[in-house]
Amino acid sequence: MKRLVFATGNMGKMREIREIMDGSGYEILSMKEAGVDPEIVEDGTTFEENAIIKARAVHALLPDSIVLADDSGLVVDALNGEPGIYSARYLGEDTPYTVKNNEIIKRLEGVPDEKRTARFVCAIAAVLPDGTEKVVRETVEGRIGYEEKGEHGFGYDPIFYCPEIGCTTGEIPELEKNKISHRGKALRKMRTELFD
Ligand code: IMP
Repeated sequence: MKRLVFATGNMGKMREIREIMDGSGYEILSMKEAGVDPEIVEDGTTFEENAIIKARAVHALLPDSIVLADDSGLVVDALNGEPGIYSARYLGEDTPYTVKNNEIIKRLEGVPDEKRTARFVCAIAAVLPDGTEKVVRETVEGRIGYEEKGEHGFGYDPIFYCPEIGCTTGEIPELEKNKISHRGKALRKMRTELFD
């Protein structure tokens, strides 16, 4: 069976990609399941560049597979786009998200609702066996809240109020979030690019 390898070790992402790529006729594997785990330096300056860097690095080791990689993060307009591509590293990789989230809330003190706009961005890159490269980007739009809310999700979800669902993305279960999320939308767009 032909293989589609996703350059992540994150099982939540693998569940989502399996669900979305179901029926593609490809065996869907994480890079570890495919037997590779390269050291990748994400030194791009955009989400798209970092996604393509990861996809190329894994494709170099698995040239017969379709390789997908994603890069995502939170962009806060009132903070000039921070934390952006540094979302995972913001205030330090190992700093608890409750600290990161409360720091963002603090930095937005006095900023009114209409200027608290933010978005989750996801870029997904694909490298095909013939070397063709594709990149898609999707967002989910929202606003930074005034306190953490919700026990679901991860990362910045508790402070990301999303008008589309009327609550934070930390207040809805994973399957609900996948329907509206930046990553869900980008994965569906990539599926269309690859298979339709
Ligand atoms: P990654 O590129 O998917 O590993 O995401 C990088 C970082 O962006 C994560 O470590 C989180 O800090 C943040 N992030 C990306 N997507 C989400 C999301 O759906 N909810 C909350 N935080 C996210």
